[in-house]
Amino acid sequence: MLTRNLLLYLSESRRFKSFLTRFKAFNNVTKRFVAGEQISDAAEAIRQLNGKGITASFDHLGESIKSEAETRDEVNEYLRVLEAIDKHGLDSNVSVKLTQLGLDIDPDLCIENARKIVERAAISNNFVRIDMEDSTKTEATIHVFERLRREMDNVGIVIQSYLYRSAKDVERLLEMGARIRLCKGAYSEPATVAYPRKADVDANYVELMQTLLDSEIYHGIATHDEAMIAATKSYAGKRGISTDRFEFQMLFGIRRDLQEKLIKEGYRVRVYVPYGRFWYPYFMRRLAERPANIGFVLRNMIKG
Ligand SMILES: Cc1cc2nc3c(=O)[nH]c(=O)nc-3n(C[C@H](O)[C@H](O)[C@H](O)COP(=O)(O)OP(=O)(O)OC[C@H]3O[C@@H](n4cnc5c(N)ncnc54)[C@H](O)[C@@H]3O)c2cc1C
Repeated sequence: MLTRNLLLYLSESRRFKSFLTRFKAFNNVTKRFVAGEQISDAAEAIRQLNGKGITASFDHLGESIKSEAETRDEVNEYLRVLEAIDKHGLDSNVSVKLTQLGLDIDPDLCIENARKIVERAAISNNFVRIDMEDSTKTEATIHVFERLRREMDNVGIVIQSYLYRSAKDVERLLEMGARIRLCKGAYSEPATVAYPRKADVDANYVELMQTLLDSEIYHGIATHDEAMIAATKSYAGKRGISTDRFEFQMLFGIRRDLQEKLIKEGYRVRVYVPYGRFWYPYFMRRLAERPANIGFVLRNMIKG
């Protein structure tokens, strides 16, 4: 727990980042979890995943946004991503964070920006997933999502099983037919809003997964946890829910063996492919999830 919180703290430290990125070997090792800095790097990674029968979601890792002009740059980046998906015939949608589109600056600006991306995606029959950030953004994120979802149905949202509020949010979102990605949650949250114990996060995950599968809407079950995956397979089997009624989702570079195994078993798998210049906080959150990854990083840095 201490290591996890320390890593999450360091994920926001510019000084620690500039210290680490002095090491070429550190930069090399990040490629395991981040596809590269350019759209073309992510497109190439996705082309390879598609070759294995795995679909994807582009995720542009942006810097924290402070101005309206920066939010417009982010919109343009996503419009270019959607062009690239069409141009290269990739089987991929996109994932966006609303803070990148101005959620903290002005919710109306954020809606206007997000609408441009969702509208462009609709032209190609594509889909936009709104990622979920820390708990101070949950209500605002759901609110923006609801506004967009009333206008267009090619947009979905994320629910985190570590939050106490999630069962109510799922109920509220399913009423409007929302497509949900279920994950455990990646941020450091106080016990006032989130289950501190992994066992409770997992138990809530299983309950929410069952509610989602019962809804007959197409959802994403995002996890690398074999116990969560087994619970999903077993519940779907028991309820006669076929493998094309939902998809498993995993992160780029994590449990590639499991991704391929699920495909062979006939399940759908989508991999979230992050790219961009500002990869550092994302990378540190992945280390925090599994501190054993620090060993992997250090071994590679020593070798490099
Ligand atoms: C497609 C996708 C989208 C996501 N979107 C969001 C989002 O919008 N908001 C949000 O808060 N979180 C998001 N997450 C992150 C998520 O909340 C978890 O932090 C992350 O998935 C780890 O949880 P887990 O379910 O894999 O289970 P855990 O209990 O954390 O891990 C189970 C097992 O998975 C493997 N594993 C997990 N993480 C790693 C890792 N980093 N490196 C190597 N092995 C690992 C290990 O074998 C571990 O024992 C997303 C995750 C996925 C897969």
